[in-house]
Amino acid sequence: MITVSDLRKVYRQGSDEVVALAGVSLEVPTGKIHGIVGHSGAGKSTLVRCLTLLDRPTSGTVAVNGTELTNVSDNQLRDARRRIGMVFQHANLFDSRTTAQNIAYPLELVGTPKAEITAKVTELLELVGLSKFGKAYPSQLSGGQRQRVGIARALATDPDILLCDEPTSALDPKTTDEILDLIKKLRDRLNITVLIITHEMHVVKQACDSVSLLEAGRIVEHGAIEAVITNTEGRLAQTLLPLPGNAPRAENDGPVLDLLYTGAQATEPVISSVSRKFNTDLNVLAGSVEQLSDQQYAHLRIQLPIDADVNAIIEHLQASGIAVTTKGTK
Ligand code: ADP
Ligand code: MG
Repeated sequence: MITVSDLRKVYRQGSDEVVALAGVSLEVPTGKIHGIVGHSGAGKSTLVRCLTLLDRPTSGTVAVNGTELTNVSDNQLRDARRRIGMVFQHANLFDSRTTAQNIAYPLELVGTPKAEITAKVTELLELVGLSKFGKAYPSQLSGGQRQRVGIARALATDPDILLCDEPTSALDPKTTDEILDLIKKLRDRLNITVLIITHEMHVVKQACDSVSLLEAGRIVEHGAIEAVITNTEGRLAQTLLPLPGNAPRAENDGPVLDLLYTGAQATEPVISSVSRKFNTDLNVLAGSVEQLSDQQYAHLRIQLPIDADVNAIIEHLQASGIAVTTKGTK
């Protein structure tokens, strides 16, 4: 588990102060994958540097499994850093070292005995699907394979947290999905906590259990995917499960509702059951269905006739577990 409390980072630029992080708090439980999204300048890189203790925060704390990392002395810093494994956009491998030697590097740094290193590297190569490539050099590997080496190297010291900074931003879509599948598999196998910093919503859709939106150094929206998705007015929901912009115009002034439901509920014939039960017609204005971290979600905008019993219909939908937002009339 990683707990970030009221993290602030202020940079001085001459006589000016730049507030890069304006009090960021966040908690990711063990075995969960959390995405942090935000535009350029939002503070993502600053957050990464503060979490990895490459940069000291101005105030606030970072704790891993209850142990505070932010107030350790300089000579404890190296041990503290080992609890967080880093994966970067580019794997930054040593070209003169083989795959196995690259993975071994962090273990050599801390003086691990040779036999132990060999065993660990063999295990990690298998874990990331590179057993046959131990002797290959980075120039002989594809971008996806190099990123696998980077991930194996990050795991060499058995960290509690895997912190991935734009891990797939340099990869093509197919390789991106393979790397995200690998991260999910590692999470399942090692029960490791994963933080993924990204500007790609696709990464959140594919891999994250929860997400935070960072803006001007603050988290402005956050929550489990199923929770942020239900807030159909929210920015995250509108990016994760947007309705097509060219929805047909309604023909009357009847009330408009946004419905949000998951695959399990979607197996119920929602529309026809409402239509039958309330003896009414429903007009579907727009809809989209998305697979988000292995769960199916549907977002539907419907319009009821002008004389429909809206409250009763909303109650009925909510009783079926559907999140309903009233959009007024259109
Ligand atoms: P992101 O990675 O989301 O693009 P950054 O963390 O790089 O955002 O930057 C957040 C803000 O902090 C920006 O306004 C940036 O100009 C400022 N900033 C980042 N690093 C420094 C620094 N070393 N000195 C001064 N300002 C900085
Ligand atoms: Mg950045």
